[in-house]
Formats: sequence, C-alpha cells, structure tokens
Amino acid sequence: MRYDVAVIGGGPSGAVAAAELSRAGFSTILLERNLENVKPCGGAIPLGLIEEFNIPSVLVEKQLTHMKARSPKGRVIDMRMPNGYVGMVRREKFDAWLRSEAKKAGAEVAEGLVKSVAHAGDGFVITTLNDKIPPLRARRIIGADGANSKTAENLCFPANDLKVIAMQQRFRYTPATEQFRDIVEIWFDGEVSPDFYGWIFPKADHLAIGTGTEDNRHNLKKLQKRFIEKIGITEKPYLDEAAKIPMKPRKSFAQEKAILVGDAAGLVTPANGEGIFFAMRSGKLGAKAMIAHFNEKAPLQAYEKEFKKLYSPIFFGLEVLQTVYYRNDRLRESFVAICADDDVQRITFDSYLYKKMVPAPWKTQMKIFSKNIYHLLKGC
Ligand SMILES: Cc1cc2nc3c(=O)[nH]c(=O)nc-3n(C[C@H](O)[C@H](O)[C@H](O)COP(=O)(O)OP(=O)(O)OC[C@H]3O[C@@H](n4cnc5c(N)ncnc54)[C@H](O)[C@@H]3O)c2cc1C
Repeated sequence: MRYDVAVIGGGPSGAVAAAELSRAGFSTILLERNLENVKPCGGAIPLGLIEEFNIPSVLVEKQLTHMKARSPKGRVIDMRMPNGYVGMVRREKFDAWLRSEAKKAGAEVAEGLVKSVAHAGDGFVITTLNDKIPPLRARRIIGADGANSKTAENLCFPANDLKVIAMQQRFRYTPATEQFRDIVEIWFDGEVSPDFYGWIFPKADHLAIGTGTEDNRHNLKKLQKRFIEKIGITEKPYLDEAAKIPMKPRKSFAQEKAILVGDAAGLVTPANGEGIFFAMRSGKLGAKAMIAHFNEKAPLQAYEKEFKKLYSPIFFGLEVLQTVYYRNDRLRESFVAICADDDVQRITFDSYLYKKMVPAPWKTQMKIFSKNIYHLLKGC
C-alpha cells in the first residue's frame, strides 16, 4: 500500500498531524515505536492548548492557578494567574488519547520502530526494525519522532543543536508533601540546575519533580538528588525518567517533500522548556501546509515560514531571558525579585496561556525595564 503521508512518531506532534490529514481525506499512517510509551515529561500545558484541541477534562488532572518561584537564597514569590490556569496531564494517557483521535479521524496507527526513511521514486520507502511492519511507501513524510529524530538524520536535515538533558522522578503523596498538592513550584537555584530550573508539578496521585541542565560538566543525577534533599523528601520515588529537551529550532525543518514537527524540529522554548504546545501547533500547521501542498501544489516550506512568523518572537525573548538570568545565582536572585512585580506576572501569564505577545503600555515597559536594571545591579 502507498500512503499519501507517513507520520513517524506518535507523540503529540505526530498524532495531531495524522488526525488533521486524515480528516482532510488523505491516507495517513502513524508509526509509533511503542504504543505504551511513557514520555518523560512534566505534562504542564496552558489553557489555550486545552481549548484549541478540546482536551477532555478527565485528562486534565489539575487546573492550577497558584505558582511559587524560589530563589537561590530561598526567597519565595507567590504568583497568581487570574485569567486562566496551567493544566496538568499525564503523558501516558494524553498521548494515547491523541492517537485515538487520529485513529477516529481515519489514520492507520501501527506499532513499529522506524529503522530507515529513504527517497524512492517521487516519494519514500520506510522500513521498521525486524520488518515488524513490512516496508511501506508514502508520497510525503512528517518526522515527529522526537529529539533524536531518525527521520531528520536519514533525510539530512540540519543538526538539532541545543539540548538540555532533563530528569524527573514521581513520588506518591505523603503527609509531608501534601503542601505541594495544588501549587506549581519552580526553583531557580544553581544547586538544583546551573543553567535551567527545577520543577515540582502536582498530579492527581503523585508529585513529578525534576531538573535539567544543558551543561555536560554537571551530573544530572546529583543535581536531582540535591533538589530532593532541599525539598526535604526522604521517601523513594516510584519512577525515574529522563530525556533530552531540544530547545533550539533546527536551521530548517521543511524540505520539498518532508517536514519535521515538534521536538524533531527542535521546537521547545528556551528558559521554560515548554514543548507540548509547540509540538501540537507545529503538527497542525505542518499538516495544513501538507494539505495545501497536495491540493494547490503549495511548497511545504510555507509551514516553516508560518511557524517562525507566529512564534520566533517568543523563542527569541525566552532565549534572551535564559542567557541573561540563568548564568549564576546572583542573576537568578535578581530574576526572582523581578517576578514579584504584578505587571511582570500578568505579562508572563498572558503570553504563556495563549502565546500572544501583547505589548504593554510604554509606562509599564519603562517600569519593568528600570526594575530589571535595579535588580541586576543590586543582585537581588
Ligand atoms: C523531563 C521533561 C519534562 C518536560 N516537561 C514539559 C512540560 O511540563 N510541559 C511541556 O510543554 N513540555 C515539557 N517537556 C517537553 C515535551 O515533553 C516535548 O516537547 C513534547 O513531548 C514533544 O512532543 P513530540 O510529539 O514532538 O515528541 P515526543 O513526545 O518525544 O514523541 C515522539 C514519539 O516518537 C516515537 N519515536 C521516536 N523514534 C521513533 C522511531 N524511530 N520510530 C517510531 N517511533 C518513534 C517515540 O516513541 C514518541 O512517542 C518536557 C520534556 C522532558 C524531557
């Protein structure tokens, strides 16, 4: 059988792309190496995503409006989200639901580890490990196979440069950790991460606690151990998980007949490591560009252009923030101090929830700018 499109990788980006293409009537196969996969992930998603993709409330285990940012010296800033919430999902359920939506829309969902993707005639031939799925053909490819994308490697896309390695542990609630049940905590602390941050995300029946680092001179397991000690948890986790977070878009992620979406394209924002929203949006935008390509002979590069037009300012802004403030504890202390400002909180949450950068009035911008300078000079 020759498909119109083979989508490689059944995470959020691939499942959304496959659903969109199938709904438009294109024969689509979604290839996932392990349909029981539990992607290591904090599972924090913004309200805008929940609304756009009609995520059922049963999948959103928590709707959190209260957040705490903690500095290296232990200063804690309380932050409230008046206009929305951060939803907490569990990836094993979330991804399975997204794949079931793709199937409902008409996509064929198949389990098999893709071993090679090669040009053949005017399309591609795809093989899987041990021929679990017999070699198959597709006119076009969507690579949605995550940070270590085989598709990108086989089709010679530019490298995926900047990768944070992150680890997360799951802990059952105990009387001592009940205090974290309804709060998102973010720790900016060099002992927890020298160049990223540590997180405590509450789920229905456990806490997901993790940290990441870009810097390979640091031992991630030791950072995580120190984080757990600092929180004061003495119990053992029931699950350890780790994976790369590709926080820099590839130089290009669209070719004449193939595109990359989500982590495969490096679409995770710096500073906060948010990837689910961009995976699903890129899956949708990529599929729409593919539909226009089939119907109107439009170039697939339109997808990359559209994604960059919409989201480059966010990626740029967060990269500057990470470069300026995540370098040492003095700067992290300043950053947390700035977070105390109500306007900073409002702008941060508004742009997080719906990914719309609405410029603040100039007076507010000047105030925030002056506060930045003040705290940077003062170091707290
Ligand atoms: C520890 C950690 C915490 C995170 N926390 C958050 C968070 O709280 N919020 C947030 O927004 N983002 C978070 N992220 C980032 C987020 O998990 C990713 O950006 C998101 O999963 C990207 O979705 P994706 O579909 O592009 O890729 P993935 O979710 O990685 O899916 C890729 C899929 O492809 C499959 N696959 C891979 N290779 C092959 C192959 N050769 N053949 C067939 N199938 C293959 C995999 O099994 C997988 O199912 C976190 C990441 C990590 C590592």
